[in-house]
Amino acid sequence: MKDNLLENISPLPFSSNGSTQLLIAGPCSAESLEQTLVTAKQLKAIGISVFRAGLWKPRTLPGTFEGVGNKGLEWLRLVKQETGMLVATEVATREHVNAVIEAGIDVLWIGARTCTNPFAVQEIADALNGHDEIAVLVKNPVNPDLNLWIGAMQRIVNAGVTMIGAILRGFSYYGNNFYRNVPEWQFAIELHRRYPHLPILCDPSHMGGKRELIAPLSQQAFDMGFDGLFIESHFMPDKALSDKEQQISPQELYSVIKSLVMREKNQSSESLEMLRQQIDECDNELLNILSKRIEVCRLIGAYKKENGMQVVQTNRYDMILQKCLNQADKLGLSAEFIKTIMSAIHQESVRQQIKILNDHSKNGSSCTK
Ligand code: PEP
Ligand code: MN
Repeated sequence: MKDNLLENISPLPFSSNGSTQLLIAGPCSAESLEQTLVTAKQLKAIGISVFRAGLWKPRTLPGTFEGVGNKGLEWLRLVKQETGMLVATEVATREHVNAVIEAGIDVLWIGARTCTNPFAVQEIADALNGHDEIAVLVKNPVNPDLNLWIGAMQRIVNAGVTMIGAILRGFSYYGNNFYRNVPEWQFAIELHRRYPHLPILCDPSHMGGKRELIAPLSQQAFDMGFDGLFIESHFMPDKALSDKEQQISPQELYSVIKSLVMREKNQSSESLEMLRQQIDECDNELLNILSKRIEVCRLIGAYKKENGMQVVQTNRYDMILQKCLNQADKLGLSAEFIKTIMSAIHQESVRQQIKILNDHSKNGSSCTK
């Protein structure tokens, strides 16, 4: 099937040919007319041209502030009228979409919780059918599933929307984490590899969950080539009705933006090319050595099969891991990195050996395949 996300996308209405970064900012929630308008005016004054504010809030626990709902649409209309900014809000149902279209909202976003549910995303897509005047930003789903994220964007583009973008806001994991939602930057890298024209923004507010992480996460996003930022900003962050720990004032946002260092996207030079050549050679060697290792694994698999041995030998894996970690330490490689690599290699070895064990063809015990 044709992948519309690859072919049918046009620049976001607020992009400026990739030369400047896209900055969207505003409170987590619109709380009152005063809070919405004052925050918007302060953001406009620091150069922000797209204002975000949630009206229907998907809160984890009931009984917390769940947004002002439809009445906030009029406040966003006033923001547009009085500041000339574009306005953005989150939608999760058909009714939300109908309401934002009628109110002339410029940009809508699909939140992380909604993105996980294809029924909800399809309902939103159906309600958007034919509305190519509206821009849609899709946050990553709460769980780390790249295809679910891509599928959500495909549903929206299949409905005829062409101004589409993605927002990386991190993924939730069980247990205490330094980040509110773990960034997992590789999802954005892979998304960009597959869809080079898709704008990708970073939401450092929901990622970090704390004010002090907004600047470093924003810098990291720009260093990695993100197209822009989606940041929560409130005129009185300490009084915010939702997500107050991660909101900053427009003045603080101005300092964050000023502190960011912008780097060139594609600057090639002879010395860089030479270094890249070395990387290519290393990758080549890595692949050859991996292929050699898998070959030996298959021989061991055949041996285990012939001798009725089980595939996973935890002691042996533990020994290998310890040896590698000791060596990694001496080589200045991070333990976490080596654990990840060795665990992936071990998983593949086990998979190969199980395949051999279950191969009942005539040459099943041979190690050739
Ligand atoms: C939000 O942007 O206000 C929001 C609810 O974010 P997320 O979907 O990333 O949790
Ligand atoms: Mn929020």
